[in-house]
Amino acid sequence: MSEPTPTIEAPAEEAAALAEAEARLHDAPPEAILDWMFNRYGTGVTLASAFGNTSDVVLIDMVSKVAPGTEVFYLDTDFLFDETYALIERTRERYTNTVNLQLFRTALTPEQQAAQYGEALWATAPDQCCDIRKVQPIYSALEGKQAWLTGVRRDQSATRANAPAVQWDAKFGLAKANPLVTWDEKRAWAYIFANEVPYNLLHDRSYPTVGCTHCTRPVGTDEDQRAGRWAGTDKVECGLHLG
Ligand code: SF4
Repeated sequence: MSEPTPTIEAPAEEAAALAEAEARLHDAPPEAILDWMFNRYGTGVTLASAFGNTSDVVLIDMVSKVAPGTEVFYLDTDFLFDETYALIERTRERYTNTVNLQLFRTALTPEQQAAQYGEALWATAPDQCCDIRKVQPIYSALEGKQAWLTGVRRDQSATRANAPAVQWDAKFGLAKANPLVTWDEKRAWAYIFANEVPYNLLHDRSYPTVGCTHCTRPVGTDEDQRAGRWAGTDKVECGLHLG
């Protein structure tokens, strides 16, 4: 059995401020949540993007306008789709002066991972694979930050149905906000088209969310948006957004 992840408690004043903000912003529009976060944490805010769903690209566009220069980080697992790498480059060009795009990845190459843990760790132990290639690099990405923004939305899956707008992230030890938490896919697409935001072209081919090549498949029209992630296993999250 694996050890439980240690948690980091919020300082009392921080916990109180976040509880008050969550009570007020639980169903608030993204602008209000972003406004509160940047007022409170300023340049201590970083935005996580996987370049794999509509929320990711909407938030980059919003942040580029309300807080130009904000750091946007992404994790390259070495197993991303070509379409995702292409989107990263299109985003870098589009927002070259308005967001600070930063890459994080594990030092363990896919070949070293195979030699150390066996071929296809994503099939034999996906939690371990995600921990190596996503969770550990994110500790580096969040080091020194006061708060992070993510694209989690309540409509994305049953496990996200009660996601807060603002919270303390006890796993990583900083504040966290989900500015698009009340939005749905239709609203995100309307924003993308209205603002001509670059998006992952796999969305046009039945991939509503896109992760690693080994763990993502297209979904049917009657399936949950995240049904194509780790299909055939009971895994539903990569370990970044639990708790
Ligand atoms: S999504 Fe799959 S391939 Fe990517 S890090 Fe997680 S288990 Fe590994």
